[in-house]
Amino acid sequence: MAAEREATGWDRVRGSVRFRITALATLIVVVVLVVTGIALVLLQRRALTSAIDDSLLQRADDLEAVLRAGELPERLGLGADETFVQVVAADGSILATSENVAGIELNLRLPEGAEVLSSADVPQVDDDPFRLLTRRIPVPGGTTTLLVGGTLDDVKDSAAALARALMVAIPLAAALLAGIVWWLVGRALSPVEAIRREVAAISGGELHRRVPEPATADEIGRLAATMNRMLDRIEESTRRQQRFVADASHELRNPLTRIKSEVEVDLAHPERADLAATHRSVAEEVEGLGRMLEDLLYLARSDAGDLDRSATSVDVSELLEQEVARLGDARVPVTVSAAPVTTVGGRADQLARAIRNLLDNAVRHASAGVASSVAVADGAVRLVVEDDGPGIPAPDRERVFERFARVDEARSAATGGTGLGLAIVRDIVERHGGRVFVDPRHTDGTRFVVELPVSGDIPG
Ligand code: ADP
Repeated sequence: MAAEREATGWDRVRGSVRFRITALATLIVVVVLVVTGIALVLLQRRALTSAIDDSLLQRADDLEAVLRAGELPERLGLGADETFVQVVAADGSILATSENVAGIELNLRLPEGAEVLSSADVPQVDDDPFRLLTRRIPVPGGTTTLLVGGTLDDVKDSAAALARALMVAIPLAAALLAGIVWWLVGRALSPVEAIRREVAAISGGELHRRVPEPATADEIGRLAATMNRMLDRIEESTRRQQRFVADASHELRNPLTRIKSEVEVDLAHPERADLAATHRSVAEEVEGLGRMLEDLLYLARSDAGDLDRSATSVDVSELLEQEVARLGDARVPVTVSAAPVTTVGGRADQLARAIRNLLDNAVRHASAGVASSVAVADGAVRLVVEDDGPGIPAPDRERVFERFARVDEARSAATGGTGLGLAIVRDIVERHGGRVFVDPRHTDGTRFVVELPVSGDIPG
């Protein structure tokens, strides 16, 4: 955060994707243009040099013809590209020469070979290097050497002119490209900045706000849509948490208020106090509070993903029999009909807790008896707990699984329910990849059905 705040001005521009893309694109283009420019200059130089070579060769052919005809004049004229011409006899004497090198023995380190084109320095004529054609012609009594020199000035000038033009054109093209890329990337990224601003502005109290979704279905459009779905989930879960905390505080306050008023009444009127009754009532309330805290703790751990997720093979029939046995002498008889082996993958302690909650509810609400059973059908273990009590009205059959949901407030308070039992059942069953529901076809009392996949791991 601090780094984000401190990074201002130039630092922020330099760190931006827009800047980096622009810089990279410009750098690549500059490198390509410079390499192309250098290649262009070299190619141009080569083409011009080879044109000069052609004219030197032509001149040598002409000279050779004149030589062989024995018509070689002493003074030779110069063609367009030529700088000097000399014909040297085998003994080194100059047979013919252009005026500018008359009497000068060109002190060239002549290359070997019958005919060679090379670059050479001829300081007697000019400081700049020349293109030199050396041709050796065998004649009776030795070898006559033809030397034709051509200036490279034009080649140099043209290359320099091209290089100068490129040195202006390349930076201009790079600057133009940088400007275009900067503008295009800025345009493409502007929705991202709008999304960032909106997300930065969404505080805890403004969870209803959403980021602007561009009309396009590109990556940024999808990012915005995904972010809004995430905000939906955050809003939903935050609201659920807030409701849960509010409900929990409310639920914890009620028994505390009752305890406080009972104790205060006894203190105010000690002569009329029935201490034994107060103790009993306080003990019951404290026990209820303990149960509720334990349930709240379970749900809080579950919400935080802190529950043990390791899975073992669990026999649901065995669990049901154990839990029914634990009830002992319940207020109504509880029957069990369990298939021999009904194995699911999961946590035995959590599944036992779910079964216990269902049995406790059934016993609490039954008039004459509770029936429980486990069977395997269609790859699922089906556990049924049913009672012949007042039943759950159709509109409440889903609601009873919500936290702190009670069908009848007065009745639940009297029976000491926390309103969390069925929420915990659903949480556990769904963690095990199963489902739990109130059977709508059963109208004579209440029938809870739990279906669990026969085996497998607890889904994440
Ligand atoms: P509680 O601990 O208050 O019973 P539960 O989450 O276990 O909380 O149940 C939610 C509500 O569903 C209960 O208040 C009760 O009204 C209703 N309920 C649960 N089981 C039964 C049942 N077997 N018969 C009738 N009503 C039931």
